[in-house]
Amino acid sequence: METKLLFYEDPYLRETKAKVVKIEDDVVWLDQTIFFAESGGQESDRGYIDNIQLIDVRPEDFGHILSEKPSFGVGDEVNLVLDWDRRYRIMRLHSAAHLVSIAVEEVIGKLELIGSHVSPEKSRLDYAFDGRISDYFDAIMEFIRPYLEKPHEIVIYRKPENPQIRVWKLDRWELLCCGLHVSNTKEIGQIRLKRRNLGRGKERIEIYLV
Ligand SMILES: [Zn+2]
Repeated sequence: METKLLFYEDPYLRETKAKVVKIEDDVVWLDQTIFFAESGGQESDRGYIDNIQLIDVRPEDFGHILSEKPSFGVGDEVNLVLDWDRRYRIMRLHSAAHLVSIAVEEVIGKLELIGSHVSPEKSRLDYAFDGRISDYFDAIMEFIRPYLEKPHEIVIYRKPENPQIRVWKLDRWELLCCGLHVSNTKEIGQIRLKRRNLGRGKERIEIYLV
């Protein structure tokens, strides 16, 4: 059963209707959805399906896990409402993480990325790096600042030879990404960076919205 993923067509879509195709206890499958399921380090969305709280979305099969067994049935049309504040923070923090990763490469050089995550509170990038990565924060922020002050378009396109692969593009930089992003860099707003040392040779950059 294929669920149409509307968030890829329009990550700004906050509300829509969908048809229920299957129900198992508190898990619901729909013909289409606006709710992102955890993938590539980006957390799942929250929201409501016909006023019942959505507590998670399963990435393996797009089962929507509700807080209670629904009273609607298979074939019914239901209303999907996204927790937009949460999602918009995730989109801003995901785009911010890509921007910081570009800045790291421009300022320090190509480092091995050993982990990354995007939540509504913060995003993080983990690098294999000997040294204090925060020594470079001023230079990184200097690189980033013009992008936060003026809108630079963020383009997402699918690889023509493999439409499953999505490419995130900003100016001359491209990254493979299956997550959701704001449409230009100014939407990220202001950010602040924090360093965390994860042990010898491992450095984490945490990114917060301010
Ligand atoms: Zn990404």
